Parts: sequence; C-alpha cells; structure tokens
Amino acid sequence: MKFVGAHVSASGGVFNAPSNAMKIGAKAFALFTKNQRQWLAKPLDDEIISKFKTNLELSKILPKHTLPHDSYLINLGHPEVEKREKSLIAFIDELDRCDELGLDRLNFHPGSHLKQISEEECLEHIANSMNEAIRKTKNVKLVIENTAGQGTNLGYKLEHLGYLVENCIDKDRVGVCIDTCHFFTAGYDIRTLKTYEESMKKFDTIIGFEFLAGMHLNDSKPDLGSRVDRHESIGKGKIGLEAFRFIMNDERIDDIPMILETPNSDIWPQEIELLYSLIKN
Ligand SMILES: [Zn+2]
Ligand SMILES: [Zn+2]
Repeated sequence: MKFVGAHVSASGGVFNAPSNAMKIGAKAFALFTKNQRQWLAKPLDDEIISKFKTNLELSKILPKHTLPHDSYLINLGHPEVEKREKSLIAFIDELDRCDELGLDRLNFHPGSHLKQISEEECLEHIANSMNEAIRKTKNVKLVIENTAGQGTNLGYKLEHLGYLVENCIDKDRVGVCIDTCHFFTAGYDIRTLKTYEESMKKFDTIIGFEFLAGMHLNDSKPDLGSRVDRHESIGKGKIGLEAFRFIMNDERIDDIPMILETPNSDIWPQEIELLYSLIKN
C-alpha cells in the first residue's frame, strides 16, 4: 500500500501537523518539530507531546508514515570542527524530539563541504557525526535524503548515500529518502519505464530498497542533470506524470511515507488524489 501526504505546517504547535494532514486527505505527512531556521528550541513539554499523540491517533496516520525533517542549519559534514559540533548537538536534539513524539525516523540532508574540504573528507565527517548521534540517542532512524547537488551539497550521487549507509554502525537505524526532483536534477532519469527501471536498479545495487524509508514526491522545474533544486507540482514539470505512475505502481516502494513538497499547497488534496488515481487495480 501507498501512503501519500505532504509536508504540512506545524505552526502554533507540532500537534497541529496531524490535523493539517487530515484536512488534505493525507495518509502520511512531514513536519518540522521546531523552527527550521533556528538552532535552539524550547524542549517539548508533556502537554504538547500528549496533544500531538492524540491528534496523530485521530488522523489515523501511523508514526512510521510520519517523516519529520530536521533544520536547514545543520551541516553534519561542516569543515570546521566547532560548527560541526554545533550541528551534531542540534541534530541529537532533533532525534530526541522525534523519539519523545513517538516518531521513528528523521529526514536530513547529508551536508556540505563548502569548498573547504574534499567530498571524501566531508562524507567521512558526516558518517562520524551520524554514528555519534546514534550512540547518543535511541529508537529513531536517521533517514538521509538525496540532494540535487546544488552548491556544495553532497548526497547527489547514490554512491554518497551508499557510503553513509555502509559506514553506519547500526544498520537498523539508517535509511534513505529519495526526493524525485533531486534525483532527476542530479542526473537520474525516471521519465520512461526503461529509464525508471535503470535508475531504480542503480538505487537497489548501490543502496538497496530495504533502506528506503521515505520519499519526497516532487516534479522538477529544472531539467535532467541541472543540479538545481526547484520543485514543481506533480505532472507540471520536466519529470512529468508518467514517472509518478511508475512509482505509485512499484511494490518496492510500499509502506513508507511519500511526501509532497510541491510549491502550490492549495492543490495538495488534488495532487494526493491524482497520485492515488495512478494506481492500477
Ligand atoms: Zn525533499
Ligand atoms: Zn528540494
């Protein structure tokens, strides 16, 4: 089964996110558990946690179909040790917040080398940061998102994610999230059945579907291989609707949160319906 939703607002409190998901007919959702542009946040108190759990139950969305996203400030591969340490502390806090909310996975972008160190060195820092975070937290899976490779962001090659999974000290606590827009603009074509199967085979060989813990469903404004990260509504971009038909009918992608991060939130209910309508009975 497929579980499609969107990255919904948590403004006013995290407990609003499940209600916002319900309103758009979502069976999955993503959220920020704190302001994503700030380093620090007030700890979650018991009342907020219990309100979140109540609303999540009311929405009938399972914790495993919820994909929290961490702050954009965090760079686990930062070239400078102090800033990397600061990122790690914030990342651990995010993992703890997910655990407190009863959620089992956290989506994050691997990191950036900022032209100060090599890609290899940066990946090594990220792997070390991830392992340190795993040692200092429990339960929550670290879900690495592929990137478009804009600027100095790593994670645009499947080999980057493969390296991080391989070097993770606890394979039960690591997963990956494939963002279709990032995948496409990083150079992996999915527009025809043939190219879709080829790209997914690469994914399976380099990482493995058993590590797929989430997807971001976005069409793309820029073209294949442009390495520019700009999302478009489903079927309205350079990827086109067919790719999403392949995804929605791919059994290897069952039972994970599939999250829209498309620009026009007004049409999320229609986009969710559209995606479900692609499933062949
Ligand atoms: Zn994404
Ligand atoms: Zn993006």
